[in-house]
Amino acid sequence: MSSLEQVPLSDSNSMRRICTVNPATGMPSQEYLAASDVAVKRAVESAKEAQDDWALIPIEARARVLIKAAKALLDLQEEFAEVISRETGKPILEALGMEVLTGCDLLHFFARRGPRLLADEKISPHLFKHKKAFVTYGPRGVVAVISPWNFPFYLGLSSVAQALVAGNAVVLKPSEWTPQSGRLILELFQAADLPAGLLSCICGDGETGAALVSAEVDQVCFTGSVETGRRVAESCASRFIPVVLELGGKDAMIVCADADLDRAASGAVFGSFANAGQMCTSVERVYVVDEVADAFIRKVLQKTSELRQGDQGQRDIGPMTLESQLRVVERHVEEATSKGARVLAGGRCNPGYSGFFFEPTVLVDVNHEMTLMREETFGPVMPIMRVRDEREAVRFANDTRFGLGASVWTGDKRKGVEIGKQLKTGSVVVNDCLINAAMTELPFGGIDESGMGVSVGVQGLRSFCHVQSVALDRFGLKTEMLWFPYTNKKFKLLKRLARIIWGSFLGKLFS
Ligand code: NAD
Repeated sequence: MSSLEQVPLSDSNSMRRICTVNPATGMPSQEYLAASDVAVKRAVESAKEAQDDWALIPIEARARVLIKAAKALLDLQEEFAEVISRETGKPILEALGMEVLTGCDLLHFFARRGPRLLADEKISPHLFKHKKAFVTYGPRGVVAVISPWNFPFYLGLSSVAQALVAGNAVVLKPSEWTPQSGRLILELFQAADLPAGLLSCICGDGETGAALVSAEVDQVCFTGSVETGRRVAESCASRFIPVVLELGGKDAMIVCADADLDRAASGAVFGSFANAGQMCTSVERVYVVDEVADAFIRKVLQKTSELRQGDQGQRDIGPMTLESQLRVVERHVEEATSKGARVLAGGRCNPGYSGFFFEPTVLVDVNHEMTLMREETFGPVMPIMRVRDEREAVRFANDTRFGLGASVWTGDKRKGVEIGKQLKTGSVVVNDCLINAAMTELPFGGIDESGMGVSVGVQGLRSFCHVQSVALDRFGLKTEMLWFPYTNKKFKLLKRLARIIWGSFLGKLFS
């Protein structure tokens, strides 16, 4: 039996019963009671108690726990991938490649780099030459991690691992629809002998999440929808606690006339349909320059027709995870077609299955009057819009309230980067898609309604830290220029010094 805090799936103080559904069949899958407010409070209290000692342990020792967790993950990779695949409906190869193995890499990355990235940072004061200074990155305390169902293992693990290595304790609340995948994270750290109380996993719904946010936590790291993110941000703001918000997206793909159309079409198909389109950085809108649009669409249709949809064996596209999300997809497609969009592939639930299977769908003749081009669809749907030129593509791409990611496809990489810089997004990729989120050294986050702050990268890791500036006096002089008493002599001296520092060549010494 592990020493870790276990908040049971069944909580005797709770009254709310949650029933998850098997996405492949649409049948009930498991039932549990949401953690009560009492259980949430207890988890936060245990975390607080355990965190004091954890923060005093050298970061190298904390990093060793991450390495142990990574080793356990390697040993359990297939078992974990099966749980994630079963619960979400995603193909097992996707669960392995995009959740388990990226998780393994992330644990190694932050274990190896964490000690250096969070070491005291020496600063050379440009003006106060008689002082020493440095910046420290200490833990904040107890971090609440609230995660969604679309990447139920990796997204939770990412925040948990970074928060822990930085010296924090964590209370994790996975999505109510994927509790087992969330609890795998707890199992992993149990296997790595993480000290008791430092990590808890409380299972429950939005009410449980709200109770956690308003408990005595010191930071919230939230990944989910814009609507919930806003509520979480308001709650954090009222208590002045820092919050990282990783929210929805409506990523645009721009296909220039000089693009490698074969690669671009493969990228579009992967970017729109991987994980049944349920990725925050899925390709949700394609803008293709008119002169290559026909050829591009032909290739997209060919590649889409080769996809295998199913619930087991070798398959590319699984069911959607939730029926409610499937209904959103249906609504967007129906509304678009009623306004003149044409479906060239898919466009309906797959009649061969009783679960939540929506066929990979390609639409043309779309415009920005359609919800499909404005709201997050979060399903296997690729709307393609013809544009006059790249400038028009940029204008349409920026015509959104989201700002998560985007991709540009062109034979001229420099031009691709230039176009990318004109896009108002947290990340951009040239001639690829969905990759930024897996590159652990890159900060990942959105602007506008796609969120606030970043996860991963140096900036992401440091966002789990309390940044403290430390200054030291070097020489122990009896007094300082601006200390009392204020005299006319000091006044004149200050004016002379100002001329030397900011009005003469000697200023270089102070830059
Ligand atoms: P959601 O907002 O419904 O739920 C997310 C989590 O918040 C769940 O654990 C839920 O129980 C909890 N929650 C609900 N109400 C709460 C409240 N009032 N207070 C605290 N917690 C509460 O989102 P979802 O449907 O699970 O996830 C899909 C969304 O997540 C999509 O919009 C997707 O784009 C986004 N997402 C973003 C990223 C990113 O990195 N930007 C990554 C993955 C998913």
